[in-house]
Amino acid sequence: MTVAGNERDMSRVVVVTGAAQGIGEAIATRFCRSGAHVVVADANSELGQRTAARIGGAFAPVDVTDTATVVALRDAVVARFGRIDVLVNNAGIADSAPLDRTTDEIWERAMMVNATAPFMLSRALAPAMVAAGWGRIVNVASNAGRTGYAYTSAYCASKHALVGLTRSLAVELARTGVTVNAVCPGWVKTDMASAAVANIAAKTKRSAEEAEATLAAMSPQRRLMEADEVACVTLALLEDGARGINGQAIPIDGGQVMA
Ligand code: NAD
Repeated sequence: MTVAGNERDMSRVVVVTGAAQGIGEAIATRFCRSGAHVVVADANSELGQRTAARIGGAFAPVDVTDTATVVALRDAVVARFGRIDVLVNNAGIADSAPLDRTTDEIWERAMMVNATAPFMLSRALAPAMVAAGWGRIVNVASNAGRTGYAYTSAYCASKHALVGLTRSLAVELARTGVTVNAVCPGWVKTDMASAAVANIAAKTKRSAEEAEATLAAMSPQRRLMEADEVACVTLALLEDGARGINGQAIPIDGGQVMA
């Protein structure tokens, strides 16, 4: 595998999975603007290449559920940039179904993309950070990793698993200079939320506007979050002044779920 894109001077090397669009794209954009070398790692090559070219990052075609590809990604990034400083595990899927229609495939796919892949990526990339004595792993979990929601048992279980992985690695790596945290958005304006709105509208015979209003009403701020709000919090975790934040599941939801 080769990582294609623009060259830059010395700065943080950041891998963002699922960065072709949505929250990952917003995170990759913020990191690029901060001067980092950003690798847009996504299974969607066409969109991923376009996004990487537009924001000034590099693109790597990666299905995060494939261990061999994940290891090849690590090797390609190190070959190109010499190191890896930050891993943002953002790629995710969100199928919904009532329990009796949650197939084994829905369950296994959610666990694979949302929990097992971040584990495999962390296992592959963290040793380089530990060796360098500095690193950041940020897992894009969800409010569904902090509480339960109906009709999303596979998604909620996978995001709880991701928060569990975050907490365990945070303790394990605590004295290495590497922090591990999760960001937990409420509903964010992306294609994922649009699909949920369309689904709710179809099932409840309401308009898309009414369906979106029910999602917005879940937050005390009565709105969906912007993808860039997740990016801002993720970028802030890179500060040396943020190194005491470790093993946290940080809500970005306008106060929807409180500890
Ligand atoms: P999105 O569907 O807009 O984008 C997801 C991206 O991940 C796409 O570019 C897709 O190609 C990529 N991807 C999916 N499976 C992949 C795989 N196996 N390998 C590589 N890339 C893959 O989603 P989004 O709304 O931007 O969500 C991003 C993350 O934020 C997800 O983990 C999601 O669970 C989480 N999240 C989203 C919301 C929301 O309301 N949008 C809320 C809370 C958490």
